[in-house]
Amino acid sequence: MAIYFDNASTTPVHPEVLEAMLPFFKDHFGNPSSTHSQGRKSRAPIELGRKKLAEILNVSPLELCFNSGGTEGNNNALTVAARDLEVTRFISSPIEHKCVLKTCKNIAEDFGIELEYVPLRENAMIDLDALDEMLAKSDKKTLVTIMHANNEIGNMTSIEKMSAICLKHGALLHTDIVQSFGHYKFDFAAHPVDFFSLSGHKFHGPKGVGVMYVNKKHPIRAFINGGGQERDIRSGTLNAPGIVGLCKAAEVAYRDFEETEPHITKIKMRLWQGLKEMGVVSNGDAPENTLNKVLNVGFPPSKYAEIFLLKLDIEGFCVSAGSACSSGASAGSHVLQALGIDPSWPCIRFSFSRYNTEAEVDQLLATLKTLVKTESPSSIEL
Ligand code: PLP
Repeated sequence: MAIYFDNASTTPVHPEVLEAMLPFFKDHFGNPSSTHSQGRKSRAPIELGRKKLAEILNVSPLELCFNSGGTEGNNNALTVAARDLEVTRFISSPIEHKCVLKTCKNIAEDFGIELEYVPLRENAMIDLDALDEMLAKSDKKTLVTIMHANNEIGNMTSIEKMSAICLKHGALLHTDIVQSFGHYKFDFAAHPVDFFSLSGHKFHGPKGVGVMYVNKKHPIRAFINGGGQERDIRSGTLNAPGIVGLCKAAEVAYRDFEETEPHITKIKMRLWQGLKEMGVVSNGDAPENTLNKVLNVGFPPSKYAEIFLLKLDIEGFCVSAGSACSSGASAGSHVLQALGIDPSWPCIRFSFSRYNTEAEVDQLLATLKTLVKTESPSSIEL
């Protein structure tokens, strides 16, 4: 069995999640919108799950819209902001996920709205003072779209600070919490935002299901037209097994938080300590400040450094170069480019979950040590 260090890409479903989902493929197969008993059997757990999820996030259940995942949620939020809420200016960052960057670009063209990017500080940290100034400079109705935790390098941008800055200037705030949900305690009542997106498969829930939050003060029209599900924002038969699985995964993540989160941090810091001793450098903010599940590092240039990924795969380790959602090549990563990474330093993203062990880290370090030391092609067996 491969040793899996690619949890920012996706995670295995938690056994309790699978157990919660199974009845919805068999006994509770009814359409959740049907009013008969079979329909009600699938609808009730969805609404209970919505309620529990809303409690975790400290929002109203009416503000949560189930959908197909982070990509859809981000597309939805940005589109309706421009179409329905009279937003005429977007401010984003150069290190957002492609589903935000491309959507912003397309909407800016389609709706003729202004698109600006907040500058980055050292280590690709978002410059929130610059954001404050950019908002102060213009009277245009603006939506800020900046993610909470970066999927490639784990850099965190304070939701609390972004919320305060946007409130001060009357700007709308959308934030992608796809990577940090399950690993961070949010309080959206204390620190309000207008939109956020999360995705089931990043926290041991199923793939193809997510949530978009839209603040109840915003009257938005349908993003997907049809039978009127999800308060007519997102029509389509509700994915009962997926939604129940997502809600269960959230419940399990926050129930076990005090146990799993320090464990994940310990795993990451053990790997980082071993890598530092090999002359490896971290990419982005200091590893102790980045999201605990992500560690992005650069290896010293060597003749065979490019084949690290392949060699690690052969040795049974699943890791990622840059982001798995892009081409899979570090050269193609817009985030590493924004950091100004020297292309001769091959970069690998290791990402962790509750299931990783210290023994796995030690095995990985032992393999990496031999790779870093490898000097001749004859010692590499491909
Ligand atoms: N946003 C971030 C930060 C991500 O890391 C990803 C996936 O990697 C997405 C959005 C897309 O989410 P989904 O796979 O649910 O469409």
